[in-house]
Amino acid sequence: MKLFIAALGTETNTFSPIPTGRTAFLDDLYVETEASRRSAHWFVGPLRVWRALGEAAGYAVVESLAAFAPPGGPTRQDVWEDLRDRVLADLRAAGPVDMVLFDLHGAMIAEAQDDCEGELVAAAREIVGPSVTIGVELDLHCHLTDRIVGACDVLLTYKEYPHIDVDDRARDLFRLCDDARAGRTRPTIAVADCRMLAVWRTPNQPTRGFVDRMSAAEKRDGILSLSLAHGFPWADIPDVGAKVVAVTDGDPDLARRTAEALARELWEMREATTDRLLTLDEAVRVALAPEAGVTVLADVSDNAGAGSASDSTFLLRALVEAGATACAIGSFWDPVAVRLCREAGPGARLSLRIGGKTGPMSGDPVDLTVRVLGLRSDAVQTYGNGKQPMGDCALVEAGGLHILLNALRTQVFHPEAFEQFGVHLNDYATVFVKSAQHFNAAFAPRADRIHYVAVPGSANPDFARLHLPRAARPLWPIVADPFRDPA
Ligand SMILES: [Zn+2]
Repeated sequence: MKLFIAALGTETNTFSPIPTGRTAFLDDLYVETEASRRSAHWFVGPLRVWRALGEAAGYAVVESLAAFAPPGGPTRQDVWEDLRDRVLADLRAAGPVDMVLFDLHGAMIAEAQDDCEGELVAAAREIVGPSVTIGVELDLHCHLTDRIVGACDVLLTYKEYPHIDVDDRARDLFRLCDDARAGRTRPTIAVADCRMLAVWRTPNQPTRGFVDRMSAAEKRDGILSLSLAHGFPWADIPDVGAKVVAVTDGDPDLARRTAEALARELWEMREATTDRLLTLDEAVRVALAPEAGVTVLADVSDNAGAGSASDSTFLLRALVEAGATACAIGSFWDPVAVRLCREAGPGARLSLRIGGKTGPMSGDPVDLTVRVLGLRSDAVQTYGNGKQPMGDCALVEAGGLHILLNALRTQVFHPEAFEQFGVHLNDYATVFVKSAQHFNAAFAPRADRIHYVAVPGSANPDFARLHLPRAARPLWPIVADPFRDPA
């Protein structure tokens, strides 16, 4: 038996000022074969799982490309076609296979392709024919299209945000697809369109209960897998928006009813799951009058993990002007500032222009006299069961404010982004992280409280004001009732 596996992902924010070319993949994750044996990157987790389970079950494992770029603007068309064609060429070269498993993001858009993953999986289906089992694991921030659903046998998404279950879902997918390949099940997929734009933080109620009920329902007769594809709101394409996926064992009616029931349940929860976000002024007040312990504030609008530049200065400027101390803030994607700090050396004082370089959503640069507290080369931070590169980093201090700078655009996933410099999270009263939710997994156990802050940015969470003229149907909260109101 032969198992073919590949991993390919990025998350495209069509409002992002960051072009996505080849270097974005080369810098983050690009391994042409056997990444499961060569890379500690978190996105490779499913390949590691599938290789281990596949070999244990007697499959010969053929491993193709593993590539991931930090979220940004649409991927260059030539880069996308090269990535796609490498995977398809490897699949053809593998000869007859029994099972194909894809680790994809699901929100990758190229300049001339809204549905990269759908195109890839449909092309793979053409190559292997209708009888070979194809399984797809997606990030829950995906756009579900008819094409990708129609081209595979089993499709599931992560259930958790932060994505702490990437490898668990890979195990689920292997089992479901191995059962289908062996003829023990006949998976059928139904999708319910929620017509919603939102962020659901799965540790928080009532979303926690929804995910737990969904997981419990998977154990019922006939239901093989259930997923809530949260969608990725910052993408002006026809399939933007949340959808529920149900996979049943040969029962399309059960799949449809189950997906629709979950979509209705999610709709009923819409007010209770809407975030209370702090304004910039409220966030500064928290920093000026800190409560006991450590308060973590997330700048969700400048989250590199949603395609933002991660160099916006709205909060930094306000904190400097207010004279906030005992604060840390980061990480600013600013390779020039990192370079200047490296040249100046540890302990040096220098004038530094920080952030505000990428576009209007980054604000203006902030000029400060800083002291270089520390420098790191090719730093990494932990994310889930893997690692995320940060590039060269510097921690600088100005007036009691510690500012983290890095050269490879990424969000803050873990306190070690700061603590690699010998500081401790408890040294600070308030810590501002440029991240929407992934930081939560490693910060929440050590934070006394967490707030989310909305300032200007390429991933501003005011979904009612998102300009999505290409969305193919009305979406809440742009309209109050998308099943009744026109767009
Ligand atoms: Zn995601």
